[in-house]
Amino acid sequence: MTIDFIDVQAPEPGEWQQVSPGILWLRMPLPFELDHINLYLIEDDDPVTGEKGYALIDTGFGVSKTQEIWDSLLSKLDVPLTKVIVTHMHPDHIGMAGYLVDKYRAPLYMSHSEYFVGRAMSAGSRGASDWQDDEYLVRCGMSSEYVATASENRKTNKGVGQVIRPIPLHHERLQEGENLTIGTHQWQVLIGRGHSPEHVCLFNPTTNVLISGDHVLPIITPNIGVYSTEPNANSLKMYLDTLPQFKNLPQNALVLPSHKQPFVGLHKRVDELIEHHHEHLANLKSFCAQGKTIKECLPVLFKRELNEHNMFFAIAEALAHLNYLYFEDEVSRDINEDGHYVFTLTCEHLRHE
Ligand SMILES: [Zn+2]
Repeated sequence: MTIDFIDVQAPEPGEWQQVSPGILWLRMPLPFELDHINLYLIEDDDPVTGEKGYALIDTGFGVSKTQEIWDSLLSKLDVPLTKVIVTHMHPDHIGMAGYLVDKYRAPLYMSHSEYFVGRAMSAGSRGASDWQDDEYLVRCGMSSEYVATASENRKTNKGVGQVIRPIPLHHERLQEGENLTIGTHQWQVLIGRGHSPEHVCLFNPTTNVLISGDHVLPIITPNIGVYSTEPNANSLKMYLDTLPQFKNLPQNALVLPSHKQPFVGLHKRVDELIEHHHEHLANLKSFCAQGKTIKECLPVLFKRELNEHNMFFAIAEALAHLNYLYFEDEVSRDINEDGHYVFTLTCEHLRHE
């Protein structure tokens, strides 16, 4: 089993490439280390007028630069968007949904959790207290200076709502096991969890194409995090539990991911992703033979220097792995005198007592 990337040059922003009959691949820029997102257009018919158009998968970051690219691309394309389908609520996926839905009066398709979590996250804290955010960072083993700076930054930072255009007040719900009709084809809805609450993937059994979103990515692994909004979440278990279902799909399916290059080799990639996390779990277990804080565990998971943006996700990823081990009773979780969680391998723990 190998992973074979399709031999198609990635489209420039504002351009497109055909990746399968009736499916166009687009790219929008992102202001991060991961500098792009893939979007897809699928040939569709307007349910009311019967007019030809495209169903869109994901929308790009909600900033004026993306809007400019969209405007020029849509005028070149010269057919309407019939559906706006968003795989999950992260800002690079949902960011421009409101703009495009309003422009074409097209329906927004999302899973129920992604839609409402997206609306809640983009609305900000609305003055709610945030001591839990401080506590989360303390439990993660961050220094008091780091916690104080983060707290200060929250006061001025308007949060994720800045890069998400107002989310439409209406959606069409996508549910596990349902089919969505796009053009003449039926797409099966599969749900992945762990990267986000109820991430939608779409599989077309007739053409053997999988829209995998961020749930199955090549080259990079999707971020699996535990955040202050649910510090006792077991996100990694949810992720690992919702990966094997993709091995029920044909192994030669064409996978259209949200980042990097489309590929064939779904089963191998699913195995690699599962193995990657089990390797991290095994390394953390031996590292925690003597109790360790989350901050101390970061070098086990991340070999490179972490900047502030990465640090936010790195802590969340470390906690997701350590919570997994904790809920499996592989490590104990105590709080030291600084308020930091200390994770200790259970059998070692017992032996020392
Ligand atoms: Zn995502």
